[in-house]
Amino acid sequence: MSYSHLDLAAAFAGRFGNEPDGLWSAPGRVNVIGEHTDYNDGFVLPFAIQHSTTIAVAVRTNRIVRVASTFAPDDDPVTADLDALEEGSVEGWAAYPLGVLWALEQSGHRCPGMDLLVDSSVPVGAGLSSSAALECAVAIAANELSEAGVSRRELAAIGQLAENRMVGAPTGIMDQSASLLGEAGQAVFLDCRSGDSRLVPLDLKGAGLELMVIDTRVSHSHSTGGYAARRRSCERGAEMMGVAALRDLSVGDLAEGAGVLDEETFRRVRHVVTENARVEDAVQLLGAKGPVALGPLLVASHASMRDDFEISCPELDTAVEVSLDTGALGARMTGGGFGGSAIVLASVDDMPAIRAAVVRAFSVAGFRAPVIFSVLPSAGAGRVV
Ligand code: ADP
Ligand code: MG
Repeated sequence: MSYSHLDLAAAFAGRFGNEPDGLWSAPGRVNVIGEHTDYNDGFVLPFAIQHSTTIAVAVRTNRIVRVASTFAPDDDPVTADLDALEEGSVEGWAAYPLGVLWALEQSGHRCPGMDLLVDSSVPVGAGLSSSAALECAVAIAANELSEAGVSRRELAAIGQLAENRMVGAPTGIMDQSASLLGEAGQAVFLDCRSGDSRLVPLDLKGAGLELMVIDTRVSHSHSTGGYAARRRSCERGAEMMGVAALRDLSVGDLAEGAGVLDEETFRRVRHVVTENARVEDAVQLLGAKGPVALGPLLVASHASMRDDFEISCPELDTAVEVSLDTGALGARMTGGGFGGSAIVLASVDDMPAIRAAVVRAFSVAGFRAPVIFSVLPSAGAGRVV
C-alpha cells in the first residue's frame, strides 16, 4: 500500500496523536549493471526509481523513538531509548530505522527522540532495495531535524553501517548511494572504493526505449542466504590472489587466477572481475552511443551471474531468456540474486509482447505470476513536505 502525503500525515496523527513536523522520501533503485561488485571495492551503475519510501516524523522532547509502518497497521509502534541502542539490539524491520539513528550517533551526531511512520511503494524483497529506501528516508530526515549537516555521501555510509551492524546484513554502499545521489534522467556511476560518484545521462525515452522490472516474487534473504557465502568466496579469492580486493584484478589477471584458485573460487572471481569491466564499458558506451548499446553487456552480465557466480534461479533465467527471445535488447537479473527481479531493456514498441510472453512462460512453468512495471531514472531522497 502506498499513501498520498496527506493521508500519511493523517495516518501519523491517528497513530501518534499529533501532526508530523514533516515528510521525507527516498527512492528504491535498480542496478543497470555491476552486481556483487560493490563489496569488492568495484564499480556499479544503479539509478533511483520512481518507487519510494516516505516517512512522517515528529521530534520528541526526550530520547525515546517510536517507529511504526503502514505495512504492519495493527502492530503497536516499536519503542526504543536512543541511549540503550546497541549493535544487534533491535529485531525485525525496526532495526533499519533505529539502526540509522544509532549509526548517526555512532558517527558523532546526536539525534533527538522522534516518532516516525513509514510508508512505501517499493516492493519489499524484490531486489529494488526497499531497505535502503527506508534507511535513506530516515537518514535524510534525522540529518535535517538534528541539524547535523552530514553530506549525502556520508549519509549513505551511515545507512550501510545501520544495515551491516544493526540488521546484520553484510551489504555494500550501492543502494544507499543510488537512493541519496540519484537524479531524474541520470544513472549513478559509483566507485565503491573511493566513494567517488558521477551522474551519467540515461535518456531511455529519448532513445525510444523502456527499462522494465520483472519482480519474480521469489524472495531473497541477504542475512541468511547465499549472499554472505558469496562475499566470503570473494574475500578468499582476493587473499589467494594477493590483492586487497577483487577490484585490483583485471581481466588479464584471470589466466593466473585459473592456476592459483580452486575451480569454484575462480568462477566467483571471474564474475566480479568481468562484471567490473562491463560496468566501465557500459559507462563508456552510454556516452558514445546511448542506452541502445547496453544490450550485449546486460546479456553477458546475466550469463556470468548464472554460470560463474551461481546466484540466479529458474524464475530469473526464464524472465531473461523469454525476454531476449521476444526481441529485448538485453536482460539480466538485478540485485543480490536468489530471487528478486530481472530488468529488461527493449524498445517501447516491443515491450507489450515481451511482457505477455513472460507472463505466459511463468504460467506454463507453474511459477507465481510475476509483477511487471517500467522504471525511469528518478530524483534522489529529499524532503517532500
Ligand atoms: P530489498 O531491499 O531488496 O527490498 P531487504 O531484505 O534488503 O530487501 O529489505 C527488506 C526489509 O526492509 C523488510 O523485510 C523490512 O524489514 C524492511 N522494510 C522495507 N520497507 C519497509 C516498510 N515500508 N515498512 C517496514 N519495513 C520495511
Ligand atoms: Mg535490501
